[in-house]
Amino acid sequence: MKKIPQKEIHKYLRHNKKFPHVWCPGCSDGIVLGATIRAIAEIGWEKDDCAMVSGIGCSSRMPVYVDFNTAHTLHGRAIAYATGIKMAKPSLNVCVVTGDGDASAIGGNHLIHACRRNINLTVICINNHIYGMTGGQYSPTTPHDAIATTMPYGNIDNVFDLCKLTIGAGATFVARTTAYHATEMQSIIKAGFEHNGFSFIEVMCACPVIYGKLNKQGDAPQMMRDLRDSYVPLITYEKLNADEKQGQFPRGIFKNEVAPEYSERYAALVESLQSVKGEGDE
Ligand code: SF4
Repeated sequence: MKKIPQKEIHKYLRHNKKFPHVWCPGCSDGIVLGATIRAIAEIGWEKDDCAMVSGIGCSSRMPVYVDFNTAHTLHGRAIAYATGIKMAKPSLNVCVVTGDGDASAIGGNHLIHACRRNINLTVICINNHIYGMTGGQYSPTTPHDAIATTMPYGNIDNVFDLCKLTIGAGATFVARTTAYHATEMQSIIKAGFEHNGFSFIEVMCACPVIYGKLNKQGDAPQMMRDLRDSYVPLITYEKLNADEKQGQFPRGIFKNEVAPEYSERYAALVESLQSVKGEGDE
């Protein structure tokens, strides 16, 4: 991985205007911001060539801090906005930053259809198992039996595996990493950015202030140690027996396939229709 000088990072931030940020001490969101802009610096994209779009939630504050083309939109609708941006200006490198609730509850339908279309967006989903900003409601990724303010006696729902969901829906790049594995996260996000198609990157994160407190997970360093110990490389995970897999989860790139991309298909369709119309005009 290329070492990025600090001034290369700073040029992507609105550091003179928007900081200090709103995230709580110990929150993982800043680690994801750091990995994301380092990945962009490594690729060498100009900031005017990038667009970052979000919905609502703690992680969705991220576009406020970057000096790209940015849109902080409606809850659950970031992928719909990002789709419009990509279709209007396909040369832009468009990424969506979202949380588990924003992406898979209110925004779940947008997520699966963007996967199905294979449109060239990179979705970075910060999964901390809860709605942090709005007070600790349970989300589709809150573990079974975990406590949320809307499940005070323990969550009785089953959990979405967002990587399996997006693979099933047709995403062509799907990966999982954690906030503990920051350098791995940077290289996975870079690979997602460089993929020509729909990329879904799930980053398992710690919300020590809401989820951690409700579920007695310990302080922020303890939650980071838990991420380190619970998420193992895919190759290691596959060698575990059923008992050993209890409490362990795979991380890494699960799918990376080449397939026709939606905005390119659309441009080809428009071009072919225009040439037919042109022949008719002669
Ligand atoms: Fe982060 Fe949780 Fe605080 Fe939100 S409530 S900023 S997710 S620690």
